[in-house]
Amino acid sequence: MNKNQTIQIIGAGLCGSLLALRLGQRGFKVEVFEKRPDLRKVDISAGRSINLAFSNRGIKAMNMVGIQHKVEPLCIPMHGRMLHDIEGNTLLSPYSGKENEYINSISRTDLNALLLNEAEALNNVTIHFNHKCTSVDFENNRSHFYKYEDKAEFSKPAEVIIGTDGAGSALRKSYYLGKKFLFSFSQDYLTHGYKELSILPAENGGFKTFKNALHIWGRDSFMLIALPNLDGSFTVTLFLSYEDGEYNFNNLTTPERVTAFFSTYFKDALELMPNLLDDFFKNPTSPLGTVKCSPWHYKGNTLLLGDAAHAIVPFYGQGMNASFEDVTEFDKLLDENFTDWESLFKAFETGRKKDTDAIADLAIDNFHEMKGHVNNAIFREKRNLEMAFEKNFPKSYASKYALVTFNENIGYREAMLRGRAQDKAILNMLADGDIETPLKLDNKTWLEHTLKQVQAETEHILEEDRIAKNMQH
Ligand code: FAD
Repeated sequence: MNKNQTIQIIGAGLCGSLLALRLGQRGFKVEVFEKRPDLRKVDISAGRSINLAFSNRGIKAMNMVGIQHKVEPLCIPMHGRMLHDIEGNTLLSPYSGKENEYINSISRTDLNALLLNEAEALNNVTIHFNHKCTSVDFENNRSHFYKYEDKAEFSKPAEVIIGTDGAGSALRKSYYLGKKFLFSFSQDYLTHGYKELSILPAENGGFKTFKNALHIWGRDSFMLIALPNLDGSFTVTLFLSYEDGEYNFNNLTTPERVTAFFSTYFKDALELMPNLLDDFFKNPTSPLGTVKCSPWHYKGNTLLLGDAAHAIVPFYGQGMNASFEDVTEFDKLLDENFTDWESLFKAFETGRKKDTDAIADLAIDNFHEMKGHVNNAIFREKRNLEMAFEKNFPKSYASKYALVTFNENIGYREAMLRGRAQDKAILNMLADGDIETPLKLDNKTWLEHTLKQVQAETEHILEEDRIAKNMQH
């Protein structure tokens, strides 16, 4: 590819700033336009998730651009889920039976700022803030912008335009409204929305509850989660229906009702949140949705990446990781011998879309799992068994969660197919009595024998799935 071409990136969020950095490192001329002010100078966190779970696929991308050593100090390891029941009892459920497998809590602003610093340090990367893209003329490689400071509109051409402008992408809207080619687009909202709250640091600056876990108060039809921040606080997120159930976002309208709701369902959390009412009435309630679309590109002129191409609900903690992985996968193709952007974009979408569709579906599954199943006895038995497999036979077994979260060397689709087959195998075998309970987790011979049975049943299910799929075609 010709390095003298200018690549225009719309959106300097997590994906856009990483992409700018990588393309800049490769020697392309990169020009980035971001709607918001520079987050390194102005606090713009309101309304967006403050911290995120960052894991192996994201780490792989940071290693690609050589900055993982700078990201690491921003991370708080979370070794498992701390489950809080309605009585206030807690149980730590590790994410994996392997010690080196954990996820990290990271501040969106800190990570984005680091990526912007690194990208901007390159002479061939320019970033313009307060520039909103209003539409893209994808046939003529030209984007239209509104510059807030001057209240002025202008347009800018580039050889290649990449939209990393998030779930409400202006480039995607231009594809849709342009009606110049067959563009498939779906946006599915959950009936639940989310609101961010907080647990402030203790008076001595420490953490008010266990630091190294993702806390979950799962209550079947709604849930609360909390992730730690470096300053000793936790960012707490309430996921709740807009209109169903005794308590919902539409009817939590008075301080009395909010307090009654929290004291009934989240009593131990409420004790840590004297600031609840301030947060609740100050912070917005936002919707949660899945966006799927195709194609992601128009000829060799424009391309969608990150949430702009595939926004997902946050329950697998993978939206950012998947957007970073987009950049890793895109980067790999730049090493191949493509002579034009159109073939590269086509190859990218062909290879990648099956994986982003898979993580979108897995994220919806996990919504139900986190709300309810984590409290369910058979689910816990399955989890205990998988943990024992992972601990005793680390090379032979990885749970679905581990395949998705900790194995950056396989795609999401492969992780989904194998993970779902394993889940089905174990749950069926537990339900049918093919795996004896109580589980003999300390007996290695029993474990090895059971693992072999699970593996055989998993292969059987995968084979059945393959046959069913071939018959459909
Ligand atoms: P964004 O981060 O949305 O960035 C888009 C950028 O484009 C923004 O800077 C925006 O200002 C800019 N922009 C938008 N429109 C325009 C325009 N017209 N012109 C110019 N600029 C524009 N992911 C995880 O991996 N782990 C998690 O734990 C996790 N938790 C989440 C929790 C919640 C509640 C939510 C909502 C999401 C969560 N995610 C998580 C998902 C993650 O936030 C996204 O997948 C990620 O931010 C996608 O990055 P992006 O750069 O594609 O989009």
